[in-house]
Amino acid sequence: MSELKIYLDKDINKGLIKSKKIAVIGFGSQGYGQSMNLKDSGCDVVLGLRLGGESDKKAKNYGFKTMNIEDAVKWADIIQVLIPDEVQSQVYEKQIKPNMRSGQYLMFAHGFNIHFKRIVVPSDINVIMVAPKGPGHTVRSQYIEGKGVPSLIAVYQNPSGDGKEVALSYASAIGAGRAGIIETTFREETETDLFGEQCVICGGVSALMKAGFEVLTEAGYSPYMAYFEVLHEMKLIVDLVNQGGLADMRYSISNTAEYGDMTRGPKVIGAASKNAMREILKDIQSGKFANEFTSEMKSGQKEFNRLREENRNHLIEKIGEEIRSSFVWGRKENIVNRDKN
Ligand code: NAD
Ligand code: MG
Ligand code: MG
Repeated sequence: MSELKIYLDKDINKGLIKSKKIAVIGFGSQGYGQSMNLKDSGCDVVLGLRLGGESDKKAKNYGFKTMNIEDAVKWADIIQVLIPDEVQSQVYEKQIKPNMRSGQYLMFAHGFNIHFKRIVVPSDINVIMVAPKGPGHTVRSQYIEGKGVPSLIAVYQNPSGDGKEVALSYASAIGAGRAGIIETTFREETETDLFGEQCVICGGVSALMKAGFEVLTEAGYSPYMAYFEVLHEMKLIVDLVNQGGLADMRYSISNTAEYGDMTRGPKVIGAASKNAMREILKDIQSGKFANEFTSEMKSGQKEFNRLREENRNHLIEKIGEEIRSSFVWGRKENIVNRDKN
């Protein structure tokens, strides 16, 4: 095992980023979270956007100066690309690349386009990454609470020689130095991120909850009970795991639950699931998944939309909406407010 080096604010030159002009391209999940935190940390930030569009309105509403992408790239020292992965190569070719100059820093929050060579950057431009390991809205909500979301940094091209220092300083300004920053490579970040979201934290967990819900309701149990048992409680259990590992979770649950957990869990996620994960990892490493996703998005995302619709109509979602609107539990102020951020 390689040694773990975690960077915290005390290890970082926080002033470095304040001497640079930052253009954040996009005001979506990460664009919102990162630019708001940069501004509150005293950085010089401009949003590069489609002027007159929804994001432009939202960003102006928060007091940001906005420019079109071309002008923002010309103005900036650092360009943080926070638009969806599937549009980045086109926006890069048409609007970013023609306006870049030697010595600038092109930044990403995910290595996808650089690692799979959908974006190839001239060698006199620095290419670095700051990737928060959490949703953009959480990057913001944690920062407001005086905390941060742990983040990864990576350096791909380093003609100026200070790519790592710049990445650390940027990461600190979005609050990551309060939590911890780890250095990785574009390849490792890209492949492990895709694997995690496909097999475990998004794909695996949602398939697990849906399967459990279906088994209970098909056996005649109330969908409301099924919802509580397989979806609602998930967060409460995961919070314990997040804080103190599986051990703290098992310390808190009953002996009955703990015995059932350790004897039955491996029957659900066993050798067959691990083999499926290995196949998925191979498709990530070979670029097969990247090609599939890119061509699906290019050809009008029909299958993607069909799957979204099918999932939206799943009974677990309908029941969830009903339950969350009738319980006090669901009425906290939401971190995601689609009209504002
Ligand atoms: P998003 O989908 O929320 O981005 C939307 C923004 O992109 C909006 O401002 C929209 O107007 C703009 N946009 C979309 N198409 C555009 C186009 N053709 N031209 C110009 N602007 C366009 O994006 P996101 O989920 O924040 O992801 C941004 C990057 O951050 C990605 O590389 C992603 O992998 C990475 N990332 C995201 C998260 C997350 O929490 N969502 C977490 C870690 C890393
Ligand atoms: Mg991801
Ligand atoms: Mg129970």
